[in-house]
Amino acid sequence: MRYPKQIRRYCPKCKKHTTQKVSIYKAGKRRASAIGERRHAEDKKGYGGQKFPKLAKPAKVTKKVTRLLTCPDCKKKFNTYGLRVKKFEFLTA
Ligand SMILES: [Zn+2]
Repeated sequence: MRYPKQIRRYCPKCKKHTTQKVSIYKAGKRRASAIGERRHAEDKKGYGGQKFPKLAKPAKVTKKVTRLLTCPDCKKKFNTYGLRVKKFEFLTA
């Protein structure tokens, strides 16, 4: 899918249409010291530690792409619904 770098869209904070910058949302780095991460590591430890079977044959062939829109006026960022596409690229020029 080819997508424009900027789109004109309504900003709920400014309460008007603005030309917003589009980028792709990426999840942050996982911290090993986070409580959920430590608990999961503890659960997986030892004999029979794998809690659920690893996916041998995933049903989906694509990953969702979440677009992150940034309003230039208020600098607020908005996530949009995910699009299932094999390839996501921005339009040039
Ligand atoms: Zn705004």
